[in-house]
Amino acid sequence: MRVYNFAAGPSTLPLDVLKEAQKDFLDYNNSGMSITEMSHRSKTFMAVNDEANALLRELLNIPEDYSVLFVQGGASQQFAAVPLNLMTTGVADYIVTGNFAGKAQEEGAKYGTANIIASSKDKNFTYIPDVDSLKYSDNASYVHITSNNTIFGTRYTKFPKTNAPLVADMSSNILSEEINVSDFGLIYAGAQKNVAPAGVTIVIIKNELLGKQMDICPTMLSYQTQAKNDSLYNTPPCFPIYIAMLVFRHLKKLGGVKEIQKINEYKASLLYDFIDNSSLYKNSVNPKDRSIMNVPFVTGSEELDAKFVKEATANGLVSLKGHRLVGGMRASIYNAMPVEGVKALIEFMKKFELENK
Ligand SMILES: *Cc1c(COP(=O)(O)O)cnc(C)c1O
Repeated sequence: MRVYNFAAGPSTLPLDVLKEAQKDFLDYNNSGMSITEMSHRSKTFMAVNDEANALLRELLNIPEDYSVLFVQGGASQQFAAVPLNLMTTGVADYIVTGNFAGKAQEEGAKYGTANIIASSKDKNFTYIPDVDSLKYSDNASYVHITSNNTIFGTRYTKFPKTNAPLVADMSSNILSEEINVSDFGLIYAGAQKNVAPAGVTIVIIKNELLGKQMDICPTMLSYQTQAKNDSLYNTPPCFPIYIAMLVFRHLKKLGGVKEIQKINEYKASLLYDFIDNSSLYKNSVNPKDRSIMNVPFVTGSEELDAKFVKEATANGLVSLKGHRLVGGMRASIYNAMPVEGVKALIEFMKKFELENK
């Protein structure tokens, strides 16, 4: 039996996509073999790579002067790749809004000066600093942000206007709402939250930022290497790229990012409205900065939280345990979580509240 899976990542994928992958698994496109068995240089796989690339461009309306790369190493590898490729002045600015943002800054500091120009650590990352009152370093080569903070459940609803290229880790909200790609110099996202299985990381980079890597930059981490070779410099993560292609097709059929954004906003509002009106559950995030992908909440009692997670699991609502840095519960409601899943969670929360007054 399929459950409603609220895991933060790897996370739930659209059922139609899984079924299609299952149907095609032994014999992809009449090749007589699985997509996992064939050369990454075969016409068949190259067509998958090209279609995934083209569909992502279409879905995010990516301008011509940007390259789309599919790389490995997860978002965490990008914490190093970004400074290695872009820290041309030896200085970069970071806004620290959570655990991953902090890790990105620490990695950046290995290659130069990684200034923390704003942080929300003072209130355990429950808000996004005011983007209009930021003071940038004069010689920053880029400004790094984390658009959605997976662990703490916050998101930028407005992006900073910077002179230096804006770099965003969008791992947990890429394709969840419309963005203007030209506001960014570089966007990266590990696929395992909203796109595909773990193993592929999306990089969207403005072409004028290519070729600026440090001499010590490993060949594999150089965006220029990846761009020149259509992400096929070495063996790419073929299967995750294939699933990404299916997810992109699925999203396009649904009506694209505009449509999924409406659905995501609806799902999030159902859950937040319920939490705000309940006397048991509480979400501590500044309301205007609330994520529409990751919703943390607590009952106020660790014992009751544990009971909640256990009983929810028994009711087919799984992976609701909060991250150890926050405690309580977290419902990750990515693109692939159906409205019915959120409604089932709310029904369970109501019942649990009544039974534990
Ligand atoms: C999950 C996550 C990461 C880490 O991704 P890996 O692919 O495991 O390295 C980084 N940033 C954000 C915002 C995330 O949600």
